[in-house]
Amino acid sequence: MKFREEYRDGAAARTLAAEIARIATRNWTLMEVCGGQTHAIVRYGIDRLLPPQVTLVHGPGCPVCVTPVEYVDKAIEIALRPGTILCSFGDMLRVPGSHSDLFAAKARGGDVRVVYSPLDALAIAKAEPGREVVFFAVGFETTAPANAMLAWRAQQENIPNLTLLVSHVLVPPAMRAILDGPDSRIQGFLAAGHVCTVMGTREYDPIAARYRVPIVVTGFEPIDILEGVLMCVRQLEQGRYAVENQYSRMVRRDGNATALDLIGRVFTVIPRRWRGIGDIAESGLALAPAFAAFDAERRFGAVDAGDEAVSECMAGQVLRGVAKPPDCPAFGTRCTPEHPLGVTMVSSEGACAAYYRYRGLAPVPEPVT
Ligand code: SF4
Repeated sequence: MKFREEYRDGAAARTLAAEIARIATRNWTLMEVCGGQTHAIVRYGIDRLLPPQVTLVHGPGCPVCVTPVEYVDKAIEIALRPGTILCSFGDMLRVPGSHSDLFAAKARGGDVRVVYSPLDALAIAKAEPGREVVFFAVGFETTAPANAMLAWRAQQENIPNLTLLVSHVLVPPAMRAILDGPDSRIQGFLAAGHVCTVMGTREYDPIAARYRVPIVVTGFEPIDILEGVLMCVRQLEQGRYAVENQYSRMVRRDGNATALDLIGRVFTVIPRRWRGIGDIAESGLALAPAFAAFDAERRFGAVDAGDEAVSECMAGQVLRGVAKPPDCPAFGTRCTPEHPLGVTMVSSEGACAAYYRYRGLAPVPEPVT
C-alpha cells in the first residue's frame, strides 16, 4: 500500500535507530503527544530500538482519556431523560463518570446511540423531530471540524431538536501545562501530525521559544516516529529548539484554511478541565454565542455532575508523562481491559491499553521487520 509499507520497513528503521544512537551523547527524554503514536511505539517496539540514552514518555493525546468526569455525568443524565437520544462515538460508552457510564445508562433504558459521524446525529434529529437529539462532541483539533460542521448544518437547516454537548480540548495549552508541571522532565516533543494537518504548526513556535524545547511534528508509522526522534535528538544535541515538520506529506505550516475557518466561526476558546490533569487555561472549545441555540448545556440546564474519585489509578501521571503504565502496581493484575480501574485502560487509544495489548500477558513482539 502506498504511503504505508515504506513507512514500516525494518531495515530503514534500524538505520534510523543506529543514527540516533550515533548522535545521542547525553540522556534525552522526549514525549510523543498522541495516543496513536504511543500505540505505534509499543506495538512495533520502537522504544526498544532506541539507544538507552533516549527515553520516550507518553502524553495526554487520548481524547477519551482526558474528557472530564463531569461531562460523562452530564451525558449520562441527558441520556436518561425521557424523550432524548444521546449520540456518541462508541469509545465513549465505557468511559466512567463519577458513578456510572453510558453503557449502564443504555442498560437502564436510556436511548444511547453509537454513531460513526457527527452528521449521523443530524439525520437522526430529522428522522425523530419529536425527540431531543444530543451529540456528545469530544476530542482534539482533529475532530473539531466535523463537529463544527454538525452545528453549522443544524443552524443552516434550522434543526430545532438537535444540540451538542461539547467537551473539546486543544493540544498546545496542554503541552504548556505539562512543561510548567513541577515534575516535568520533557526535553522535546513529537507533536501529533493529524492535529497539525488541521491547525498547522504556527502555534507551536512560541512554545518552542519560551520553553526552549524542540517540537517535531511527526506522523504515525514506525519510520515517521523514528525520523521524528532523530530530528528532535539532533536539535537537542546542537542546542537548537525549533519547530520542525517530519510529517510534511500531510502537514502545511498554515494548516487547513477551510477547517480553521469553520472552527473559528462555530467555536470559541474557553478554559477546560482535563481528566487526570486538572484545569488548563484556554485549552478547550465551546460553541460560540452565535450557536448558543445548539448548546446542550443551555438547552438542558444544570445537571448533576460529580468529581473524579480518588483511587489507586495513576492515569493522571501516565497522561503527564510522569509514569509509564508498567509503573502502576495495578497494571495487568487488578487493572485489565476487562476490569479497568482507569480510563487509560478503558480507551483503545490509552497508554495502559497499549501496553496491556502489546506487552501485557502476551509475548513481547519483535521490533519492525
Ligand atoms: S494500569 Fe489501570 S490503574 Fe494503573 S494507571 Fe493504568 S488505568 Fe490506572
